Amino acid sequence: MAIEKLLIANRGEIALRIHRACHEMGIKTVAVHSTADADAMHVRLADEAICIGPPAAKDSYLNIAAIISAAEISGADAIHPGYGFLSENAKFAEIVEAHGLAFVGPKPEHIRTMGDKIEAKRTAGALGLPLVPGSDGAVSDVEEARAIADAAGYPVIIKAASGGGGRGMKVCTSPDQLETLMQQAGSEAKAAFGDATVYIEKYLGNPRHIEIQVFGDGNGNAIHLGERDCSLQRRHQKVLEEAPSPVLSQAERERIGGICAKAMADMGYRGAGTIEFLWENGEFYFIEMNTRLQVEHPVTEMITGLDLVREQIRVAEGKPLSVNQEDIRFTGHAIECRINAEDPKTFAPSPGTVTSYHVPGGMHVRVDSGLYQGYKVPPYYDSMIGKLIVYGRTREGAIMRLRRALEEYVIEGMKTTIPLHQALLKDPEFINGDYTIKWLEEWLAREDGQ
Ligand code: ADP
Repeated sequence: MAIEKLLIANRGEIALRIHRACHEMGIKTVAVHSTADADAMHVRLADEAICIGPPAAKDSYLNIAAIISAAEISGADAIHPGYGFLSENAKFAEIVEAHGLAFVGPKPEHIRTMGDKIEAKRTAGALGLPLVPGSDGAVSDVEEARAIADAAGYPVIIKAASGGGGRGMKVCTSPDQLETLMQQAGSEAKAAFGDATVYIEKYLGNPRHIEIQVFGDGNGNAIHLGERDCSLQRRHQKVLEEAPSPVLSQAERERIGGICAKAMADMGYRGAGTIEFLWENGEFYFIEMNTRLQVEHPVTEMITGLDLVREQIRVAEGKPLSVNQEDIRFTGHAIECRINAEDPKTFAPSPGTVTSYHVPGGMHVRVDSGLYQGYKVPPYYDSMIGKLIVYGRTREGAIMRLRRALEEYVIEGMKTTIPLHQALLKDPEFINGDYTIKWLEEWLAREDGQ
């Protein structure tokens, strides 16, 4: 089928990103929005816009009935869910398809499998992905837990099967804490996610977060687009991402990428996906798979030249991937800064009205943002207001360009994390690529102490 009109079930920069790919492909767009987003850029630029409810996400961007109605009313033939909101909701994908619409995303059964952490780990293991040593599935019995922890070696981490967003995890450093921490983890998981199931993994002391971008056509063909290093995190939230990773050789990239692509081909995976690993001492350990487009996808686009949203839409139309693995060349280096409407020191949200706005430009500089002068950032949603992505022939060149672009970027009317990125880019350890997932929080604590 050829998609002629696509409904974008999202907001902010990603809605705009999808709109842009559609217009470059000659596809008409339908924006949906809450009452709080009536003046948003994605609403202004779309060919049609439909209000789907009040500000609270549960009544608008998560309102399946309203979104399906908007697709029916507008005559859209496909829905792109973006990231967050309904993007990893298997039921939503099923409902979209049951209405005869193309879902621009994976098959519902794959979303479901990968959304359950225990099932995802089991599937990943069966597909040959390297796992973190630990329990084979859920653990409820303390004696069993002891045996697993002894075999894996302390410290271990107790994780909620239904956890997400970095919540529902307890690190256990010695056998005498195990019983108490398992009980705590179970009851907290029950309270937070309605499911007390927990499992156990070896706790890696100081890993990097390295993820592999994969793409499948749904018919047994799949490729990988290399890695992104997303180790710079605060409270498990990514702050800055880069590709390639400063620590991976081309041989290592090809090895882990090849394993991931083969796994996706064997699975019959459709569309874009990201396989997340922790990486320590040269070894990869699978932690989860995200069955959607990621916030940080532009760094991959910059070093491969491939438009990932265009590729997603093509696959949803039933077309083959536009490239083979041999066609993919990794060139240069790309870095993305997430710009949040937050105090750069306390990280307190700082929504407000944009009183002055100037975006950086020049060679190899990309800004994905729905901001404009006079725009009022609503307080109801995620605080990310934009992404600044730059490309350089070398990592050093990309860092220099990013510094220059951040200097040019003016957003007045609210606090933003631009100064945080500026400080980070001056740090010698960052410049050396010498950081792990713990580094940023330690760095922030040091900065705070000065
Ligand atoms: P969520 O779905 O909640 O994001 P993940 O399994 O992706 O959970 O883990 C989130 C983060 O928790 C990881 O990025 C890492 O920082 C930390 N983490 C998870 N598992 C381990 C582990 N086995 N050892 C060390 N850190 C871990």
